[in-house]
Amino acid sequence: MTTENEWRKKLTPEEFIVLREKGTERAFTGEYWNNFATGVYSCRACGAELFSSQTKFDAGCGWPSFYEAMHSDAVNYTEDLAHGMHRTEVTCKNCGGHLGHIFPDGPEPTGQRFCINSLSIKFKGV
Ligand SMILES: [Zn+2]
Repeated sequence: MTTENEWRKKLTPEEFIVLREKGTERAFTGEYWNNFATGVYSCRACGAELFSSQTKFDAGCGWPSFYEAMHSDAVNYTEDLAHGMHRTEVTCKNCGGHLGHIFPDGPEPTGQRFCINSLSIKFKGV
């Protein structure tokens, strides 16, 4: 298990706030909201593969959006009642890092929208 102090050394301050303290980057400021190159998005903290560019779509919200995780066991879902809202948080199953939230208003075939922070993921083109 990686301790919070170890994460603090491994991650940049911005990455730490999002991945370990469940922060949210400002819309349209991240590295990937407008990236539609072909490749794979992995967890920035632990490197686990999380999302494929094949399931990425433009939700117009300013964050990278996917309609499906790369593997069914790549992510965990947790009820999130923070900020007076009822949302479902998405975390990396491997390291527990905060990725973003999932909403039931995505496109076919899943109808799901994974709203993910660019700071939580790392893109590798193919
Ligand atoms: Zn991870």
